[in-house]
Amino acid sequence: MNTARPPLLPLDEALARLEAGAGAFVLTQTERLSTFEALGRVLAEDVRSLLDVPPEDNTSMDGYALRAADVPAEGTVLSVAQRIPAGQVGQPLLPGTAARIFTGAQVPAGADAVVMQELCEALPGEGLGRVKVNAVPTPGQWVRRRGEDVQAGAAVLARGQRLTPQALGLAASVGAGELTVLRRPRVAIFSTGDELQMPGETLRPGAIYNSNRFMLRALAQAAGCEVHDGGIVRDTLDATRAALREAAQRADLIVTTGGVSVGEEDHLKPAARAEGELHDWQIAMKPGKPLAFGQIRRGDGSAALLLGLPGNPVSAFITWLLAVNTVLRTMQGLPGGLPAALHLRAAFDWPRPDKRREFLRVRLNGDGELERFANQSSGVLTSTVWADGLVDNPPARAITRGDVVRFLPLSALVSR
Ligand code: AMP
Ligand code: MG
Repeated sequence: MNTARPPLLPLDEALARLEAGAGAFVLTQTERLSTFEALGRVLAEDVRSLLDVPPEDNTSMDGYALRAADVPAEGTVLSVAQRIPAGQVGQPLLPGTAARIFTGAQVPAGADAVVMQELCEALPGEGLGRVKVNAVPTPGQWVRRRGEDVQAGAAVLARGQRLTPQALGLAASVGAGELTVLRRPRVAIFSTGDELQMPGETLRPGAIYNSNRFMLRALAQAAGCEVHDGGIVRDTLDATRAALREAAQRADLIVTTGGVSVGEEDHLKPAARAEGELHDWQIAMKPGKPLAFGQIRRGDGSAALLLGLPGNPVSAFITWLLAVNTVLRTMQGLPGGLPAALHLRAAFDWPRPDKRREFLRVRLNGDGELERFANQSSGVLTSTVWADGLVDNPPARAITRGDVVRFLPLSALVSR
């Protein structure tokens, strides 16, 4: 038996190959959506402003709009000629008068400053009365200028950017009630393993509950995908081939878990070779060494991408964050690479590092330092819930308490 093993592939090299391979699968179909429905979607067109924002000069304070030149000294008294609540448009300001005005209201023509109400005293008088102004205003004070945020015609959001809640707010502020976005990536997911049962069922001897099915489906949803759930596939070559064929009909990308080792019960790789083509990688990372990357042919000559993740739940989780999200981002024209790491101090020791690049489950403590989950084994899903990030530790680097390490927040990895 040939026991020679090929050298492990560095993770960065694997990610670069994934980006190159997914480059031929970039989505082009777009759809027009209500801005209400566009959270998490990728813009397919720039959003340009239909107007200046704000559309006219308006006040950022409750107070009095006036001409600064009419108040040469503290204590100047002006007659109040009009009252302008937000949403109403006043008359041009007559010289020597003031307008009572409220935050967000358009500043009347002729006025060049607002004095906040705390610095004014209302005095009795005819009509709306008079106001004693107890501060000398400078021209422009408390006035938000027309177009100071956005000018008409300017691109406020760029094609290729993912829509965050604040991006939706900005789109709405420039009058965009609908947006043109890429269609969602379609992802088919199935789990392999005869030991797997669904929560709610009584476990047979030797069985475990299928956690990956729930976790990966949710990761796909968090990444903005349309999910096709292929359930649990039995550990036979025929069942695995049939599941791959079926998934390829429905999806742009097929993600499987389990069956990528070299055991006799590991059918994913031979099945993928029979239905398409496959690269069988051993990546220099821990957890999550084996990764299958390939394509499954469809009847019409096109193909779906395939990523076969390891079965251990923590390995599957981390491989999704690093590898599957890279593929999904490439398919949507988003930049590749990992999110920027924070450089933080370790509050733990890691004296016996692995030869592979390790992703340790850690949590930020109240001092802004990182604590490590005690059990870093790849089957321990509790570590992923306890953690709020991963330490990205280079191969063979021992960590001593106080060392600065690279921290990748889970929030940035899950929906990127
Ligand atoms: P495999 O890669 O198929 O050899 O599986 C590796 C380990 O992960 C085994 O202990 C499996 O029982 C476990 N495993 C595989 N698939 C799942 C799953 N969907 N949910 C939970 N554990 C799994
Ligand atoms: Mg298995």
